[in-house]
Amino acid sequence: MRKNIVAGNWKMNTTLQEGLELAKGLDAALKGKAINCDVVIGTPFTHLASIAAAIDTNKIGVAAENCADKNSGAYTGEVSAAMVASTGAKYVILGHSERRAYYNETAEILKEKVLLALANGLTPIFCIGEVLEEREAGKHFEVVDAQIAGSLFDLSAEDFGKLVLAYEPVWAIGTGKTATADQAQEIHAHIRQTIAGKYGQTVADDCSILYGGSCNASNAKELFANPDVDGGLIGGASLAVDKFMPIIEAF
Ligand code: PEP
Repeated sequence: MRKNIVAGNWKMNTTLQEGLELAKGLDAALKGKAINCDVVIGTPFTHLASIAAAIDTNKIGVAAENCADKNSGAYTGEVSAAMVASTGAKYVILGHSERRAYYNETAEILKEKVLLALANGLTPIFCIGEVLEEREAGKHFEVVDAQIAGSLFDLSAEDFGKLVLAYEPVWAIGTGKTATADQAQEIHAHIRQTIAGKYGQTVADDCSILYGGSCNASNAKELFANPDVDGGLIGGASLAVDKFMPIIEAF
């Protein structure tokens, strides 16, 4: 059975001290609460080890926001999947639209990153989603299909089963403009069908597909009520405990 997951993506925000405070605050807020989803926080590389050591990582999974497409060696400034795993992080966000757009991450590069993440025991949270012009041209289904096939469809069914997907329409990220519950359900169901077409219904049914894009305390309940929306990848609203907690509690 697939899991409900609410994952934060802090992006390039917080100093180490601020990040530690935020993570510890979330840890404290979750204490004694009955929560119906897995909680993950995606933090800058510099924070991973300290945060993983400071909180209960069985209760809050820690995610890197990226990893290198190379194993190790002369790649100055890069951080490998093995390095991420050695911090105590259990997840890695891959293919975020900001990385695709600003750092030229192609389907091929992402394919390598996914393989290295899996080889190092990390759970990739793999992001897909169309830009506004593609949505307006009615191409959103084919865009997400190509992103999935281009980076993930060489995986075995067993490895695909280790992934979490996040559908994030680029026009909704950080814009305050959210996909409607119906729009989210429609494309999540389509994504699940695409997975079923390649790997079969069981793998598709077991895959957690998160929604991301201006998800907040006011719209999370309605979005998560959809049968094919298994949680959220949350940017801005994950940067404050009092904004993130109501999203976690929307399940
Ligand atoms: C994101 O960065 O993945 C995201 C969904 O951002 P926001 O929630 O701020 O739109």
